Amino acid sequence: MPIDFTPLRKVLELEHKKDYSDSAVIGGLDRFLAKWVAQAEGSITEPKILNRFYKLNLNKPNYASLNREQRRQRVKDILNFLAEAEQGTGKRGEASLPPIPSKPSPKPRTKTTAAGSSINSPITVLKGISSTLATKFSKLGVRTIRDLLYFFPNRHLDYSQRKTISQLAEGKEETIFANVWQVREVKLGGRRSTEAIVGDETGNVRVVWFNNPYLVRQLATNKQVVISGRVGIFKGRPVFESPEWELLEDRELVHTGRLVPLYHLTQGLYPRPVRKILKGVVDQWAWQLEDFLPQELIKRRHLLALPQAISQAHFPEDELMKDRARVRLAFDELFLLQLGVLRRKHHWREAQPGSPFSIDTPILEVLLHSLPFELTTAQKRVIREILADLEKPKPMSRLLQGEVGSGKTVVAVATLLMAAANGYQGALMAPTEILAEQHFTHICQLLSRAGHQEVEEDYRHSYSGILPRPITVALLIGDIKETRKQELQQRIFNGDIDIVVGTHALIQKEVEFFRLGLLVIDEQHRFGVTQRSLLRQKGFSPHVMVMTATPIPRTLALTLYGDLDLSVIDQLPPGRQVIKTKWLKPQQRDSAYAFLRRQVASGRQAFIICPLVEESEAIQARAAVAEFERLSQEVFAELRLGLLHGRMSAAEKGKVMCHFRSHKLDILVSTPVVEVGIDVPNATVMLVESADRFGLSQLHQFRGRVGRGQEQSYCLLLAENPSEVARERLDIIEKVQDGFKLADEDLKMRGPGEFFGTRQSGIPDLRMAKLSDVALLELARSEAIRLFEKGPGLETPEYQPLVKELARIWPKEGGEWS
Ligand code: ADP
Ligand code: MG
Repeated sequence: MPIDFTPLRKVLELEHKKDYSDSAVIGGLDRFLAKWVAQAEGSITEPKILNRFYKLNLNKPNYASLNREQRRQRVKDILNFLAEAEQGTGKRGEASLPPIPSKPSPKPRTKTTAAGSSINSPITVLKGISSTLATKFSKLGVRTIRDLLYFFPNRHLDYSQRKTISQLAEGKEETIFANVWQVREVKLGGRRSTEAIVGDETGNVRVVWFNNPYLVRQLATNKQVVISGRVGIFKGRPVFESPEWELLEDRELVHTGRLVPLYHLTQGLYPRPVRKILKGVVDQWAWQLEDFLPQELIKRRHLLALPQAISQAHFPEDELMKDRARVRLAFDELFLLQLGVLRRKHHWREAQPGSPFSIDTPILEVLLHSLPFELTTAQKRVIREILADLEKPKPMSRLLQGEVGSGKTVVAVATLLMAAANGYQGALMAPTEILAEQHFTHICQLLSRAGHQEVEEDYRHSYSGILPRPITVALLIGDIKETRKQELQQRIFNGDIDIVVGTHALIQKEVEFFRLGLLVIDEQHRFGVTQRSLLRQKGFSPHVMVMTATPIPRTLALTLYGDLDLSVIDQLPPGRQVIKTKWLKPQQRDSAYAFLRRQVASGRQAFIICPLVEESEAIQARAAVAEFERLSQEVFAELRLGLLHGRMSAAEKGKVMCHFRSHKLDILVSTPVVEVGIDVPNATVMLVESADRFGLSQLHQFRGRVGRGQEQSYCLLLAENPSEVARERLDIIEKVQDGFKLADEDLKMRGPGEFFGTRQSGIPDLRMAKLSDVALLELARSEAIRLFEKGPGLETPEYQPLVKELARIWPKEGGEWS
C-alpha cells in the first residue's frame, strides 16, 4: 500500500512552529519517527527514494539529543525528503498510486497539464505534439489523450535482463550498463555513422550506429549509457549494431533495460519519439482515468486498478505485470461487451410485451407425420426449446445454429405453423432472392404433404387440412410485377396471408403486416439490431429466430450474440456422407475437368465457383462471364452450362436456378458473391477456383452444396499460388468435415474481426481480448450477468462511472444507459 506522508509532514511543520522544542507529538518526535519508519520502509519501491530514505538514518532516533540548530536542519532534511518522495512515487508502479489526497495534490505534473485540458482533449494539447504529428496519429485512430492511453503496443522487447560485457552472447538480445570511453563519427559503408567504445568492470565493447552521426553529440565520454540490442560479431569480437540506447540518468528507463514497448506505427511516426511521448502521457495521465469497474469486483477478481493496468500495459515492470495488465484490460472489453448485449436483450425482451402462443400439438403432429423422414434427436430438442419460448409472454430471441444440411428449414416451418395456428403472421427472411424462392418451394412441398393444395397462384399457395382454415403462403421478391406485388402486399396487410417468404425488403417500408407474430431470419450476418428496431417502430415485437449455418463456438456466440438464446442442431440426418475433399495443384486442373466430365456422363451435376475478384461486383460479374465463356466454349463445349452472378436480375437468376434444379443444366458456374445456398441433391461435384482466398468457414459452406443426395460427392479446390497460411487452411479443410472445428480453426487463424466483421455487427473493438481466451470470456460473462441481475438499470451512484463508460463504448444505445 502507498503511504500517506501527510501526518508526518503536519507533525514536522508543527515542530517548526513550536521552535524545535520536541513538543509536536506526545512522547517526542523520535518515537513518532520510529513508528513511521517501520510503516514506510516496506512501501517505498523507487530505488532512488529508498536510497535517500536510508541516508536519512531515520531508524536511528537522535532528535532529542540534538541542539536547536541541528534540530532545524534535521526537520528541513526530512521535509525535503517527503516532498521528493511524493513527487517521485507519483511516477511509478504500485506504490506510486498517489495517496487519496486530503488536499490538492502538490504533484509537479499538474504544472505541465495544460489548463482546462482533460483526458478527452485532443492530443495537440500535449507538449511536443504538433498538428502535423497529430494528423499522423489520427491515421492510427488516435485523437484524444484517452486514445493514446489505449494505444497499446503490439508487443514488448525483453531488454530487462542486465548482463555484463563479459557475459554477452552472440546473436542474443542483450542489455548492458556501461561507461562511454570514446565516441566519434566514422564512415561506414560510405555513410556518416557513430562509433563508440563502452565498457564496464568486465571489459569493453564496440557499438556502432549506422547512418546516424548525430549521436556523437549526445554520447559524450564518461557518460553512463544503457545499451539494448542484438549482439553481433565483427572480426571475432562482439559488437552492437544500431542498438537501442539511452543515458543512465535519474529517471526511469524508456528504451532500454526493461520490457520495451513496440508500437504499430504509420508513416512518419518513429519508435523512439512515440515511445517517449507515450511514457510522458502514461505517467502524466493514466492516473486521471476513472476506474469504472465496481471496487468490489476488482477486489474479488484480483484485477489491477485501471490506471495501473494502462501504465503496465505500456511500460510493464515485468512479464507478470504485463500479463495482469492484459487480463484487466481484456476483461474490461469483454465485460462491457457482455453488459451491452445483455442490455439489448433486456430491452428487446423484458421491455416489450410479446405475443404468447399456445402450442397446438396435434397440428404439429400433422406436419411431422407427413415428413418422409424421422426428425433427428437434435431437431426434436431444438423444436422443444423453441416452443417453450413461444409460450412465454416475452418475445423469443433465439439463434438457431446448425450445419449446412442439418435440417433447419423444417424446424422453421414447424415454428411458422405455430404462429399461423395462433392467428399470427409469420415471416421468413432469406439473404438472397434465390434462397427466398427456394425456401418458398421447400415450405410449399412440406405443406402439400401435410395437407391439400387449395390455391396455386404465382407466388401464393394455400393448403387445407392442416389448420381448421386454409393456410396461405406467399413469396414476396423484387422481381414480381408491380401490380401483383401490390396485391400481395394488400393481402399481407389484410391478414389473408399466414406465412410470407422474402428478403430483407420484407421488413422495409412498403410491407405492412396485419399481425406479425414471428420472424425467422436465415443467416444472421446481415441482420442486426437496426432491423429489429425497425420492426419495433412498426409496432411489432415478434418472436425472432435467427438461423445460421456458420458454426460459432459456443462461448463466442454467447459473447457476440449474448442477446440471443442459443439452440444448436449438432447432428446431421443419418446416412449423410463424407464429402471427399481434395486440394489440387494447378497442373491438375485438366484432370479436375476430366473428373467433372465423367460425373456428368454418369448423370450427375456440378458447381464451379469462379475465381474471386475483389474490385467490385461489376468487375466480378464481367470476370464471371469471361470464365463462363471459356468453360462453355473451350472446356465443356459438349455440356450444358449455366451462369449465376450478382449483376443478374432476380428473374434471370431464378430461371438459371430452376434449370439447374430440373437438370436442364449440367454445370452451374457461379461467382462466390452469389450465395449458392441451394439444395440440388443430384449435384455431386463442387469445384472452387482460387480456393486459397477463402476462409475455412466459407469453403465449408461451398462444400455443403454437394453431398445432399445418395451419391458420393466431391469438393475440388484449386489454388494457383497459395501462401503459407492458405496452405495450412487447405490442409485443414481436406481433413476436417466438422463445421464447428473448422470455425474454431478459422477464428484462430483469422481473428474475430475478419471472421465476423465486428464493425458491421456494431460490436465494439476488441484490442486486448482474444476470443480464443475462453476462461476470460466466461469470467466476463458471469460477472456481467451477476451485475445485471442486481438491477439492469445500474442506478446506484457507485455504478455511475460504469454507466458512463458503457455509454462511451456503445454510443448508439447511449440513450438507453442513462
Ligand atoms: P439446412 O439446415 O442447411 O437449411 P435443410 O433444412 O435445407 O438444411 O435440409 C437439408 C435436407 O435434409 C433437406 O432436403 C431436408 O428435407 C432434409 N432433412 C431435414 N431433416 C431431415 C431428417 N431428420 N432426416 C433426413 N433428411 C432430413
Ligand atoms: Mg438452409
